Amino acid sequence: MKVYGRNDKCFYCGKEEACTKDHVFPRSKLHRQHKYRDIAWVCRFCNSLKGAMMPLDFLSYIESHPAITDEAKKRYRQAIVTLVKKIEEDARMERTFGTVYASYPQKQN
Ligand SMILES: [Zn+2]
Repeated sequence: MKVYGRNDKCFYCGKEEACTKDHVFPRSKLHRQHKYRDIAWVCRFCNSLKGAMMPLDFLSYIESHPAITDEAKKRYRQAIVTLVKKIEEDARMERTFGTVYASYPQKQN
């Protein structure tokens, strides 16, 4: 498991407040897959809005949300796309080298 971002700044919207942990890929879905355990620090607003959505579903939801400004939407898009790519890259590295997540029990397949 990896934790992305800082506990005082929302990874998604950038708001500075005491953040909560969001399971980027919700535990209720795909929980057996190792990379889906990754966590990002996010504000309470984003965490409750995202709920059990997958990250790109959350992005679509944000982008169609009438109360969120275009500028904020741009920030969400950049943060979420970057995060998903980073998680995929870290998971790929882990499969290749096997040591990125040394503190987590190794699972093959
Ligand atoms: Zn936020």
